[in-house]
Amino acid sequence: MFSKDQIAGTLVNYYITCKREAWLYAHHIYPDQEDENMALGRVMAEIKEQNLQDFAFANLKFDKLSKERGHYLVTEYKKSLKNPEAGKMQLLFYLYLLKIGLRLKDVKGRLISGKSVFLVDASEENLNMIKEILIDIEKLVNMPTAPKFEYKKICDNCAYRNYCM
Ligand code: SF4
Repeated sequence: MFSKDQIAGTLVNYYITCKREAWLYAHHIYPDQEDENMALGRVMAEIKEQNLQDFAFANLKFDKLSKERGHYLVTEYKKSLKNPEAGKMQLLFYLYLLKIGLRLKDVKGRLISGKSVFLVDASEENLNMIKEILIDIEKLVNMPTAPKFEYKKICDNCAYRNYCM
C-alpha cells in the first residue's frame, strides 16, 4: 500500500504532466535511460551538484535553499519546462513539506528555466491545493493498473513512450 509519505517531488511533477507516467514511475517502471532528455537531465544534475542542499528530511530534494530578508527561498532549476504547471506544483510540494514538516513560517519558491522565472508562494489556497493533489496521487498509485494510454502531444518527447506507443 502506497502512502502519501512516500511521495517525492518527481512524482508530483509526473502526476501533473501525465497520470500514466506517474503510475509507472511510482511502480518502479523507469523510463528509457538512453533517452536524450534523461541523459541531459543527468548531466545538469551533476553540474549543479555543488549548490545542492542535502536535507535528511522526508522527500525534500530541491536544488537550493537560501535565507532572504524575512523569508526562506527555495530555488529549483529545470533544464527545460515542457510543462511549467508541473514544475510549479513540484515546487509547491517542497514548500508544503517545509511549512508542515519543518514549520518554517515564511517560505517562497522560485523556479528557473533558461530566462523564465516563476514564483510560487505558500498561500493557504496553494497549500490546500497541493494537499488535495497529494490525496489524489495516493489514490492513483494504489490503483492495480496504470491509467490507459491516451495520446497527447507531450508523448512524442516522453521517455516512457516505448511503454505506451
Ligand atoms: S508516452 Fe504519453 S501517455 Fe505514456 S507516459 Fe508518456 S506522456 Fe504519458
